Amino acid sequence: MARKRACAYCGAEATTRDHLPPRALFPQPIPNGVELVTVPSCARCNGSASDDDKYFAAILSSSSRAQERTEGLSVWNRLLTGARQHPEEKGLWRGILRNIRPSEVYSPGGIIVGVLPAHTGYSERFRRVLQRIVRGFFFKLRRRRLPDDFVVVVNESPSEVFWNENHDLAADLARNGCFCPMKGVFRLWSTAEAERPDVTLWYMEFLESKAFLCLTAPRDEWDEALYL
Ligand SMILES: [Zn+2]
Repeated sequence: MARKRACAYCGAEATTRDHLPPRALFPQPIPNGVELVTVPSCARCNGSASDDDKYFAAILSSSSRAQERTEGLSVWNRLLTGARQHPEEKGLWRGILRNIRPSEVYSPGGIIVGVLPAHTGYSERFRRVLQRIVRGFFFKLRRRRLPDDFVVVVNESPSEVFWNENHDLAADLARNGCFCPMKGVFRLWSTAEAERPDVTLWYMEFLESKAFLCLTAPRDEWDEALYL
């Protein structure tokens, strides 16, 4: 009897496949020759079946930096068109706009000195998608789920700073090569601890505008302070 496939995220029976990174991050239609990684997933964990991926892609593509590029602008415009066509997404977009609305910056005297273009913090929902991507790639790499007593820690880490200030780590990541299914959309570097291969590090760059350093580690080694 064929063994049922297990969900890469929760271990339940898989009925679908989830795309890595989320399809919502790619211009549509996805150009020929671009191959996305997929992992077995149950319906509940599948990101594209939920609004999480749309939310994630909207936050990332909303920045002016992302929209300077064809790919980012195309993703943002498609999401906006979708929002106009689907009034039922109103709740989702209210959440997105709450997170990307420009915020004014005041000087000590109360004079507006500037306007921050984007959000100042990442929501639980945003972080959840990043963690799912790491869990998915971990499954792909190790052919098993991340152990239950492990967590995924995520931190924003701008590439212009990261590659200049972490020489050993950067060299280690670079040695393993870069996974880039489509230029301008997504790049991934990863490495693992030699003695504890489940302790892994992932550097992910989205829409050439935002980058995150993510780590899988035993829960008891990390406290809340390290979370985004
Ligand atoms: Zn699942």
